[in-house]
Amino acid sequence: MHDVYAKYHLKRVINASGKMTILGVSTLAKPVIDAQKFGDEHFFEMADLVKQTGRHLAELLGAEDAIVVNSASSGIAESVAALIGRGSKHHVYHPYDARYTNREIIIPKGQNVDYGTPEEVMIEVGGGQVVEAGYANMCSPEHLEIMITDQTVGILYVKSHHAVQKSMLTVAEAVKVAHDHNLPLILDAAAEEDLKKYLALGVDIIIFSGGKALVGPASGLVYGKKQYIDWIRLQSLGLGRAMKVGKENIMGLTKAIEDYLDEGPEDGNSMQQRLTPFLDGLNAVPYVEAKCVQDGAGRDIYRASVTIQADSPKNAKAVTAALKAGNPAIYTREYRANVGIIEFDIRAVDQDEMLAIVTRLHEILD
Ligand SMILES: *Cc1c(COP(=O)(O)O)cnc(C)c1O
Repeated sequence: MHDVYAKYHLKRVINASGKMTILGVSTLAKPVIDAQKFGDEHFFEMADLVKQTGRHLAELLGAEDAIVVNSASSGIAESVAALIGRGSKHHVYHPYDARYTNREIIIPKGQNVDYGTPEEVMIEVGGGQVVEAGYANMCSPEHLEIMITDQTVGILYVKSHHAVQKSMLTVAEAVKVAHDHNLPLILDAAAEEDLKKYLALGVDIIIFSGGKALVGPASGLVYGKKQYIDWIRLQSLGLGRAMKVGKENIMGLTKAIEDYLDEGPEDGNSMQQRLTPFLDGLNAVPYVEAKCVQDGAGRDIYRASVTIQADSPKNAKAVTAALKAGNPAIYTREYRANVGIIEFDIRAVDQDEMLAIVTRLHEILD
């Protein structure tokens, strides 16, 4: 299979940097790949596949209904279109028709972030008109409330490290404002880990990315209240067609979510165990001092932290550059390379790759 890399003049990659879109986010577990393969090799009544996998996932999650979509981004656009059209077939075929005057989607200003694409672009693709609430550094329930008009069709809340956190209303507060005004709350929880928490808060439409914490294929999951999911499903006959999800990815994400709910993400103990032989190997490299450290934000993630000694012929920046320049290209967390520290995130790194990293460091530093 490595011939594929040669054929297209690509470098192999060892990803010791974490979940990075620039490297393709995630690789998939064998059972998920098998599920995708089954999808690739069989026909289905597609409308039924979408509906039945959605129903199955909804049952696992405790939601009224669910749907696998092409991406979290398409989940946002299709949710917005659903709230404007409210099940109208005419709207599905004419989503930007001026007769649909109620199009306003309110979003806290500090959450109108660029995650690779601005939130507001996906709102507009869905036909929504962006109304920002609050200010760059704050948004209170009252800030949200005073922006509601007769043209408002929903509120979008973005739960993400990209968004402003300071003086920001909570998801529960946003739900209350929405429901006090008979509006639904859409939650962009693309990179979040807890699938059940927001249902318990009463969020109406919840959106996850398939390829991030869920470690599924490039896809998205939307779940919540039945009426809204029905309206979202309808979008596949209209603008949703430009965001079609393949049968293989529907099967793959469904399996990934089953396994994620059973096993959850790898825990810190397991990471610490896998790190032990790696740390021994790293400490045998000249000019290297390696130790195990916990994630700076306190998450249950452990990494190898390597300090390059001051008398090393190559400093930490030069070492990270040399690691990336090789084949395989080795990507690390290099935020602190300027102070001599390189971190290795092993969530997507196996034992053979750890050996390859140690070997490469010897080549660079011996
Ligand atoms: C990654 C991300 C998205 C987009 O997810 P895709 O599945 O890649 O479309 C949307 N919102 C936020 C906050 C994200 O972090």
